[in-house]
Amino acid sequence: MKHLPLILAAIGLLSTATAQKKIPSSYRTCIESSDRRTEIITPQVMGYNCYKADLHVHTSYSDGCVNPSGRVIEAWYDGMDILAITDHYESHGGVKRFFKVVAPYNKNKKPTRYIAPGSSKMPENGIDPGLKVDFNAIHKEAAASNIRHNYGMLIIKGCEMARNKEKLGHYNAIFVKDLNSVYAFELKEAFKKVKEQGGLIFHNHPGDVSRYETEWHKDVHNSGLIDGVEVANGLRYYPQMVNRCVERKYFMVGNTDAHGFVAHRYTVNGCFRTHTIIFAKECTEEKVKEALLERRTIVYSGGDLIGEEEWLSEFLNASIECQLVSESSKGDNRTYTFTNMSSYPYHLRVGRTVHVLESFKTLAIPFGKDKKTGKLMKPTFCADNMWAANHTHPTIEIKIDKK
Ligand SMILES: [Zn+2]
Ligand SMILES: [Zn+2]
Repeated sequence: MKHLPLILAAIGLLSTATAQKKIPSSYRTCIESSDRRTEIITPQVMGYNCYKADLHVHTSYSDGCVNPSGRVIEAWYDGMDILAITDHYESHGGVKRFFKVVAPYNKNKKPTRYIAPGSSKMPENGIDPGLKVDFNAIHKEAAASNIRHNYGMLIIKGCEMARNKEKLGHYNAIFVKDLNSVYAFELKEAFKKVKEQGGLIFHNHPGDVSRYETEWHKDVHNSGLIDGVEVANGLRYYPQMVNRCVERKYFMVGNTDAHGFVAHRYTVNGCFRTHTIIFAKECTEEKVKEALLERRTIVYSGGDLIGEEEWLSEFLNASIECQLVSESSKGDNRTYTFTNMSSYPYHLRVGRTVHVLESFKTLAIPFGKDKKTGKLMKPTFCADNMWAANHTHPTIEIKIDKK
């Protein structure tokens, strides 16, 4: 065994090399970046861009569980272009909880209590004896987060107002310049203050239309204080209110009204978060406000699209590229291809057959002769996942694209 010393030396060198291997102090287990926004691809419609907006969310300063910056981050990840932070003017569970946490250590320091404007503890004269929440600061936090992350979204100043004791309903005020000064004990007076600042008001999660036929409701409508209605709130839509919007020329919006985490409600269901598609030239306060006043919107909720028939038809036509690909030798049948160039799937029905046209997919569909008229049918569908007035699906002819 004359080689034994050499073998032992080699083993020694190996173990020294193992011992000297540099072990990193930390090691990334997942190499993928998490900074990935879901883009919701939409066509240009009648020369307008489509901006995706959520105009109703709550933060931890009222009764939500996410802070303003968190709401901005969520919205960007979900493909939103516009976000309005609209905390309740009347309930601030988050602020109350904060005072509960700090109170034991600040017994002799003020403020130590909070009374929300409009709450049952509020004196009849409407003068708040407690601490007020600075609504503008909530907006500032959200706007600063948008800038810090370079998201480039449009963050709109807003709040939600309600007088629950009187059951008048909940209303969102948006595009308000100074949120702190729009409170008034009488809701109608608060609406007037919003209007004086150039703000818009829409009716939230309305439900049955008969609840809103009181003299007070007629008065605020006749005074021109209501501009729109939230026809979809979360995963619920209000068919009666679509009719009301058409009759009274209110704009339609759909929002999450998020209190909890948005992903818990929508991502797990495989749909986008509820949002309003706004048709505007630019994503600026001025142009978005103009679009709302001209009622250039449709609403997305749980895979369905809700709005005025004209806009639904324009939107579907802009989303789908249609080509005539073949005609039978007898001339009694034509086949068209339909390519969905948007992120929204469409459920297109001909008779009893529903064609699910998924995003960025093409379907070839034959159209024969109409049994009644004997004429070749045009590429026309009943859009089963669209809702227009009277809780009906619109019937939409798809224009053939010229190559
Ligand atoms: Zn509400
Ligand atoms: Zn709300």
